[in-house]
Amino acid sequence: MRCPNCNSNTLVQRTYVITPYLRDIVHRCRNEDCCHIFVTQQEFIRSVVLPITDTDSPVTA
Ligand SMILES: [Zn+2]
Repeated sequence: MRCPNCNSNTLVQRTYVITPYLRDIVHRCRNEDCCHIFVTQQEFIRSVVLPITDTDSPVTA
């Protein structure tokens, strides 16, 4: 993920599980003149190829 302010590379500082299919990701800009800290989200949208083994329970990790 690039910093939306200065377009530099960022580091993932932390992730928060919101639901089994949604996470908040906290990024920190690596540019020392910027130091922007911001949050993005990662969400499961759909399967492209169905899994070989199917389970009824949601994936947790
Ligand atoms: Zn930045």
